[in-house]
Amino acid sequence: MNRKYLIAGNWKMNLTSDEAAELVREIVQNVGQQMDVEVVVCPPFTALSRVAPLLEGGTVKLGAQNMHPAVSGAFTGEISAEMLRSHFASYVILGHSERRSLFGETDTFVNEKVHAAIKNQLKPILCVGESLAEREAGATLGVIERQLEGGLRDIDGEATAGIVVAYEPVWAIGTGKVATPEQAQKVHAFIRGWLENRYDKSASQKMRLLYGGSMKPSNARELLAQMDIDGGLIGGAALEANSFVDLVTAAREQG
Ligand code: PEP
Repeated sequence: MNRKYLIAGNWKMNLTSDEAAELVREIVQNVGQQMDVEVVVCPPFTALSRVAPLLEGGTVKLGAQNMHPAVSGAFTGEISAEMLRSHFASYVILGHSERRSLFGETDTFVNEKVHAAIKNQLKPILCVGESLAEREAGATLGVIERQLEGGLRDIDGEATAGIVVAYEPVWAIGTGKVATPEQAQKVHAFIRGWLENRYDKSASQKMRLLYGGSMKPSNARELLAQMDIDGGLIGGAALEANSFVDLVTAAREQG
């Protein structure tokens, strides 16, 4: 099955609008018009309106880092799917471990967001991953299963084509400790198998599974070469145009 690699940059709470514009200009210039790898940047909300016009007519797509599932209303500080669409976002990261651990997001809440994203033609990048304590207790696959079960509850087969799952071991995020290619592939294969069981083989083969957690140009090739790793969700290395573009190149080389 030929899945198109996807490299997505999660800028987290970094960069003013001016800084974001500068970074995205460099990325666009260097990524060029290539279509082999899908490239997505996810700036903070405040930079979306500045970044969106700079992506017009190019191949790099816009994503957001979070959203609220409600259509509108009294949710101070929150942003809806429709608001993101109005800024031409096509992807949204949901259930990132920082949202789960720092802001108390549950699988049920993440699931509501997945439904709202799909309803508004936004492609969710659903994040799953175990903590160090869970890995050491041998609970990794159980945690992943619970997060998939919860996050994809009542999502039917037709919607799966637009959903991306990112496996991000919490102990590898922003720590410089990357999962070995074997550790990552084992979990990715488990996710693929779970999706096949839950949906069917064709759906599971079409869905893209990203690895995230200290991915950088020096370790990306080995990870991207794994059978069930279809790209990366990149934090730190996405804040610097050269390293982000190198990751796109690493994915293109797999092609
Ligand atoms: C992330 O936060 O999604 C991430 C993968 O971060 P980093 O690449 O910095 O580990």
